[in-house]
Amino acid sequence: MKPAPFEYHAPETVADVVGLLAEYGDDAKPLAGGQSLVPMLAMRLTRFECLVDLNRVDELFGVAPRDGGIRIAAMTRQADVETDPVVAERVPLLHLATPHIGHFQIRNRGTIGGSIAHADPASEYPAVMLALDGTAEIASVSGTREVPAAEFFESTFMSALAADELLVAVRFPAWDQPAGFAFDEIARRSGDFALAGAAVGIGLDSTGRIDRAAVGMLGVGPTPLRASTVESALMGLAVGDADPVEIGHLAAGDMEPVGDVHAGADYRRRAGSTLVGRVLARALSQLSQEANGG
Ligand SMILES: Cc1cc2nc3c(=O)[nH]c(=O)nc-3n(C[C@H](O)[C@H](O)[C@H](O)COP(=O)(O)OP(=O)(O)OC[C@H]3O[C@@H](n4cnc5c(N)ncnc54)[C@H](O)[C@@H]3O)c2cc1C
Repeated sequence: MKPAPFEYHAPETVADVVGLLAEYGDDAKPLAGGQSLVPMLAMRLTRFECLVDLNRVDELFGVAPRDGGIRIAAMTRQADVETDPVVAERVPLLHLATPHIGHFQIRNRGTIGGSIAHADPASEYPAVMLALDGTAEIASVSGTREVPAAEFFESTFMSALAADELLVAVRFPAWDQPAGFAFDEIARRSGDFALAGAAVGIGLDSTGRIDRAAVGMLGVGPTPLRASTVESALMGLAVGDADPVEIGHLAAGDMEPVGDVHAGADYRRRAGSTLVGRVLARALSQLSQEANGG
């Protein structure tokens, strides 16, 4: 099928983009990598009078260090996030999660901003952004605002972005302490969306006890979720005292899985808990190895 007819605009500045979004309101949609929007238009699952192509807006591309962490502009391709050394060094969880997004052809076009604005609960980046307390930078003709990840994902495919707003960048804080990170997911085939997944970061204080824990989950609720019960259970433990399998099972209580044609709610809950345990074990083992000089 072909998309319904639409007007096409290709502005070159953020100011022009938000001007068009304000002018057309609900009838306009930003076009980023097109990896979600174009199939939906082609299948006529949705239609818009006007598409605002972001691909010529130079200021929407690039990764930059910021306040010890990083700022990733919205149109930065997932493939560039995957290979960027600053991302790998400062936000390892983002680096570990990216190869799980579709196939490399999709990552070559797909953007970090598109993935986050799309707010698919089975997507990798929203769960990482939530786990790491990322921040969305948003622009409109009224000015700019910042929204923390905890307030950004409102429900399935629904975010805090209004129709006339543009996601300009996402910021991630760095962890300046000994820390271990791990990501894993289960999908029916390599490249498919995850049925369930987990992203974990664990940080230690100067005495070797866990004083920072971030556990994000995907595919197990209407939005990405945080396993706050697991995070609380980890706090204050020495690395060797944390039983990842036992603590991982606590994640089931933080999930709100919904069954669909791909997997039942019970399957998602059990797979998600197992994955949380698995990534916890990996992050803890990374910390033990570092402590032992390996
Ligand atoms: C076969 C296949 C497999 C895939 N597997 C995965 C997967 O495993 N995990 C995963 O996360 N994704 C997967 N995707 C989706 C892919 O990652 C998309 O790239 C992503 O969902 C959207 O990014 P995009 O840049 O292509 O955005 P687009 O498709 O262009 O846009 C998506 C939505 O976000 C809005 N939008 C985009 N950018 C902005 C912005 N800056 N401000 C405001 N709104 C904006 C658009 O208006 C649209 O509503 C898959 C896609 C395909 C085709």
